[in-house]
Amino acid sequence: MPRPSPKKTPMREQPPEVRIKNFDEVPYGYSEEEAKEEAKRCLQCKNKPCVQGCPVEIDIPGFIKAIAEGDFWRAIKIIKEKNVLPAICGRVCPQEEQCEKYCTLTKIGEPVAIGRLERFAADWEAQQGEIEAPPKPTPTGKRVAVVGSGPAGLTVAGDLAQMGHEVVIFEALHKPGGVLMYGIPEFRLPKHIVEREVNYVRKLGVKIITSFVVGKTKTIDELLQEFDAVFVGTGAGLPWFMGIPGENYNGIYSANEYLTRSNLMRAYLFPEYDTPIARGKRVAVIGGGNVAMDAARTALRLGAEKSMIIYRRSKKEMPARIEEIAHAEEEGVEFHLLTLPVKYYADENGWVKEMECIRMKLGEPDASGRRRPIPIEGSNFKIPVDTVVVAIGQSPNPLIPQTTKGLEVGRHGNIVIDPKTGKTSRKGVFAGGDIATGAATVILAMGAGRVAARAIDEYLRTGKW
Ligand code: FAD
Repeated sequence: MPRPSPKKTPMREQPPEVRIKNFDEVPYGYSEEEAKEEAKRCLQCKNKPCVQGCPVEIDIPGFIKAIAEGDFWRAIKIIKEKNVLPAICGRVCPQEEQCEKYCTLTKIGEPVAIGRLERFAADWEAQQGEIEAPPKPTPTGKRVAVVGSGPAGLTVAGDLAQMGHEVVIFEALHKPGGVLMYGIPEFRLPKHIVEREVNYVRKLGVKIITSFVVGKTKTIDELLQEFDAVFVGTGAGLPWFMGIPGENYNGIYSANEYLTRSNLMRAYLFPEYDTPIARGKRVAVIGGGNVAMDAARTALRLGAEKSMIIYRRSKKEMPARIEEIAHAEEEGVEFHLLTLPVKYYADENGWVKEMECIRMKLGEPDASGRRRPIPIEGSNFKIPVDTVVVAIGQSPNPLIPQTTKGLEVGRHGNIVIDPKTGKTSRKGVFAGGDIATGAATVILAMGAGRVAARAIDEYLRTGKW
């Protein structure tokens, strides 16, 4: 076998100067030839270290071998045995922290581009026309309600349907998909792809009811009268603010609102869609995670002349994916590092016009393992802005914990679960994803859905709690 190239097969993408003027997806994806070339880099290790890094345990060498042999049907079949959302995961999973981190090729260079190959297989299947669903299993007569249609809810629902249970998802918004639909922008995850994968879950037999707020329309206790078990996957949609003076001025958004207006409510297609959004010329985004990168890149596409990331630590500590930081830099997003906003100023109409910041230096590592930012006294300075997006984090949605008696809740508003089963303190109620862990990742939410599906199935079969 020839020695594999130390570099990933590159993926073609829209040039930065073109893509900042549109919301189309940035990378084009691999062609069949490129996918085969990349798949041939895989060493087919016997101990499969990459699979240990995948929370949903996809047979990664198996599907890559199929691609290398040009058997794309076999590749997608292998992936879908474990993952109902492959086109999504191939695009947004932090592979560098998961499967690709354990690839043996990292010893000589770059890992196999597992995410790009997963995306290729899923997109290739979609291009063939109808997406295949496995045959329907014999019904068990048991009914499960799933609250929330993000990756955790979709995974648990898909798995339970394939075990023969009747599953109904209740979703508060008018479209299913959770953050995949309302948070992650079109240029990173096109919404027709989310719709395609949600429809696959429907094909497995799952019913999805939208515009249904559990805790308001019906409580968990009411659902327990109609269903044999309930899974709560309501995510972490409650935005944090910094609590600094002036944060209530006009033009200051939570990232959640800013991105929801743009993605779910299509503000970027105004006037075709009549959703208003501030199209600022000088936009500051506070934070250093994926959410912040998404907001800063959205601002550019909405016409900002300057889009700035304001982050209190250095680039090394940024939690965003490396690829997202690189894309933002290529597009001209300015990075103001070791900088913390302390106050906002407004014009006579109450619109934000300036942001006062203080410079920071890094001290010893804190509880998160990252070096603690320390303000440098007397280093305050001002930056003119007309729009600010606060992207410093989110907490779990509080509605269900508040309306469900006996549901144990942790210090940060998270539902307390047994991570091995997803069981909560209420019999028959399971939970998983961001509502249990706090804001995390798509694949971890899916992994939690998979774990809970196994435990729910056992509970339905044995009645044992
Ligand atoms: P969610 O996706 O939040 O879904 C929860 C669903 O429950 C929502 O649809 C909500 O409307 C619904 N809901 C809430 N309350 C109720 C109720 N009372 N009744 C009915 N329905 C309810 N992760 C990555 O891996 N890679 C990325 O690149 C990435 N980028 C991100 C970018 C942004 C802008 C954001 C916000 C997050 C990003 N994440 C990323 C994180 C990832 O999207 C989340 O960790 C993941 O979506 C959590 O899944 P979930 O199913 O737990 O919850």
